[in-house]
Amino acid sequence: MKKYTLPILMLAVFEAVAVTLWLTKDNVFYLINFSYIGGSVALGIFLFIRRYRHARRIVQLLVGLYMLVYLGLICRENMQIEGFWYYLFTGVFEAATIHYAVAKIFGPLLFGRGWCGYACWTAMVLDFLPYKVPAQPRKSLGWIRYISFAASLIFVGALFLAHVGNIERIMFLAFIAGNVLYYAAGIALAFAFKDNRAFCKYLCPVTVFLKPMSYFSLFRVKCDKEKCISCGKCRRVCPMDVDVTDNSRNRKNGTECILCMECVRNCPKGAL
Ligand code: SF4
Ligand code: SF4
Ligand code: SF4
Repeated sequence: MKKYTLPILMLAVFEAVAVTLWLTKDNVFYLINFSYIGGSVALGIFLFIRRYRHARRIVQLLVGLYMLVYLGLICRENMQIEGFWYYLFTGVFEAATIHYAVAKIFGPLLFGRGWCGYACWTAMVLDFLPYKVPAQPRKSLGWIRYISFAASLIFVGALFLAHVGNIERIMFLAFIAGNVLYYAAGIALAFAFKDNRAFCKYLCPVTVFLKPMSYFSLFRVKCDKEKCISCGKCRRVCPMDVDVTDNSRNRKNGTECILCMECVRNCPKGAL
């Protein structure tokens, strides 16, 4: 039973968030929403412990499709970064602001970039592409993320400053257009750089929040130096070019780790 502590703990954390939001906001949606997401994440960790090869992909599809299709398209909530700015400017702690607080701003202090490995609906599609491991060295293009971050902020800020009417409909249309743009850019970059996660490395604006917060993450992959034989396999299978054998928080590309556990699965010595 001890080996199942992590999925139970993860379920408990999400249930705590679910019940707290349900009671404080007097809305049963939060109970259902966070229970579903927590249950999916716990199921994925359980399957991983049971050595099921596609555990991560199952969570990605369960959570990613739920958020994209149900919350985004059916409930018409813009859960992208523009939706976050929108709710932030209106001063409402709802939908995208809660989502960002839990998954992308404060949650990463606990579970790093678990969002990127297990829940993001953009990466859910990109991970189907053929370059699961980058076929080319990483480029120094991370600065582009700050441009897309600023563009999203300016776009929503301009809508508010111009007092544009029917802003909710515009945010829904922006959600559709934004996703089409993300998928098109993500697929183009993946083929151009022979790297499924090129979009995550260079363009995604959300990493402006995710990277600094995940630096302090409690949950990290660590290397047992006694067992490690420096074979380099972990580095070769990592989709994010992380030097996971370095245990310091300053390890190369450390804030890029998406906790996909490919390195752990492939280490021949069980050192991770
Ligand atoms: S970096 Fe951005 S696109 Fe990539 S998985 Fe994370 S949130 Fe999704
Ligand atoms: S795969 Fe394992 S043994 Fe090889 S370098 Fe990485 S941690 Fe060390
Ligand atoms: S392979 Fe290991 S170091 Fe690389 S992103 Fe996945 S969990 Fe992190």
